[in-house]
Amino acid sequence: MPRLSREGFKHNAKVFEKTCQWCGTPFFASRSTAKFCSSTCRAYSHQADTLDTAAPWQETDRTVDALLHQIAFLKSQVESLSRDNHELRRALEEAKKAE
Ligand SMILES: [Zn+2]
Repeated sequence: MPRLSREGFKHNAKVFEKTCQWCGTPFFASRSTAKFCSSTCRAYSHQADTLDTAAPWQETDRTVDALLHQIAFLKSQVESLSRDNHELRRALEEAKKAE
């Protein structure tokens, strides 16, 4: 599974923001050399490199997979932004009260 957010890493861990070379999903990796978001993407890419003939999977499958990854990524972004928004609203309320 691709790591779509920084959560799950130790807060002081070195984390690299990468883009999957197969499906284009932005993901987080613990190694700067990471190229793929998942073992699935690595396997697809490896297969594409080693086969002269057309890839045995459907282009649409890859697209759906990439879109699902994007959705999961965007969901996590929305969640963290709405959390931030909530905190800012509360801070604003506090500031208003203090006036
Ligand atoms: Zn990928």
